[in-house]
Amino acid sequence: MSFEVACRELGNDCDFVVKGQDLEEIVKVTVEHGKEVHGQSEAQVRDDKVVETMKAKAKYLYP
Ligand SMILES: [Zn+2]
Repeated sequence: MSFEVACRELGNDCDFVVKGQDLEEIVKVTVEHGKEVHGQSEAQVRDDKVVETMKAKAKYLYP
């Protein structure tokens, strides 16, 4: 099982889709993507509200 969440769902005008095996991996990938592409700091991406949104919007994928 894995998860995916669209960057757009997190409030960015962006077509990137974050994929990971669990929420912690999703957060990690989103932090890297946020830093590289959106110039966000790790603290901004790891903000409780953003993480809550990730949890709410993450889709479970059944391979
Ligand atoms: Zn993005």
